[in-house]
Amino acid sequence: MIIPVTKQISIPYLLKIGTGKTGRIGKYLADKEMKKIAVIMGSSSTNLIEPQFSKSLAENNIEVLSKITTVSIDIEEIAHAAFLLPYSIEAIVGIGGGKALDAAKYTAFLLQKPYICVPTILSNDGFCSPTSSLLVQGRRKSVKSKMPFGIVIDLDIIKASPANYLYSGVGDMVSKITALVDWKEAFNRGFEHLNDFASMLAYNSLDLLFLKHSYDIYAPEFQRSLASSLTTSGIAMEVAGSSRPASGSEHLISHALDQICAKPRLHGIQVAIAAYLCALLQNNPNVDLLNEILEKTGFWEFASNDPIAKDEFIAALKSAPSIKTDYYTVLSEDSSLDRAIEFIEKDPILHKVITS
Ligand SMILES: [Zn+2]
Repeated sequence: MIIPVTKQISIPYLLKIGTGKTGRIGKYLADKEMKKIAVIMGSSSTNLIEPQFSKSLAENNIEVLSKITTVSIDIEEIAHAAFLLPYSIEAIVGIGGGKALDAAKYTAFLLQKPYICVPTILSNDGFCSPTSSLLVQGRRKSVKSKMPFGIVIDLDIIKASPANYLYSGVGDMVSKITALVDWKEAFNRGFEHLNDFASMLAYNSLDLLFLKHSYDIYAPEFQRSLASSLTTSGIAMEVAGSSRPASGSEHLISHALDQICAKPRLHGIQVAIAAYLCALLQNNPNVDLLNEILEKTGFWEFASNDPIAKDEFIAALKSAPSIKTDYYTVLSEDSSLDRAIEFIEKDPILHKVITS
């Protein structure tokens, strides 16, 4: 295994998290001499950001040379649309939930332009990651992309978002508890190298969210911490040069559920349920902390309203280790499947969220 001695990483230069931020995007762009932009946004985002967004652009003499509102995540369609954009564009602004941001990020990567990311929900850490989740020949794939140059998160928009998105964001955060143990074990077995700084960032991203304040997902300080935590988690992936700090056994199960379930739940919802199970399998020292966070935020109660079918979950458990080849996690252990099924049968919390 070759251990990189030096490595270039890119992290966001502009990071604004707070209330009223949509109305300041024009100023942030003008300050960075980005006067000609392309906007790629989800079709439902207009109501969330207007009229503040357009007003702030006009006040700062920012020209929108192109605006794309119907967003495809098909890699070929994105590439086609990207190279039709005017060459004089100085930045790409992506606004929306997952798909619009993935498309905008990849467009910026192809054109080698700065990318400004404006998430309207906080459902996972993908907005600040160096990859885009796109359709490649009809299958969802994680594709090398570009870290944002800037991230603007308007908490006025986030506070109006439905609870399922916020619970998904919380779920994606708690998954670091299991992902980091999987990474460490993979390192101990000689399958991976461990990046200490990336590991520290991922641990710190948990501190940001869980050690400072209340567990009310609608409290402004909670949402501010969630935004910071998801951002830090994305940066940890960039520093590590892989998704290891943020994605382990629990993510493999969620990816398998996406393929198996008739109706997959949001990424972070699936990931959190799987993280609790994987923490039990790992004898993870933080399993009680993980459970406490999910209990106090109301996550368990929320997830129990739409439990995952037991046969689907067990099918996902069986196929999860083959989702990524050469990727050691606790699920690689021969005894894990039987132990996991036993936990699903006997653990009272899992009983509520995975049912027959
Ligand atoms: Zn995730």
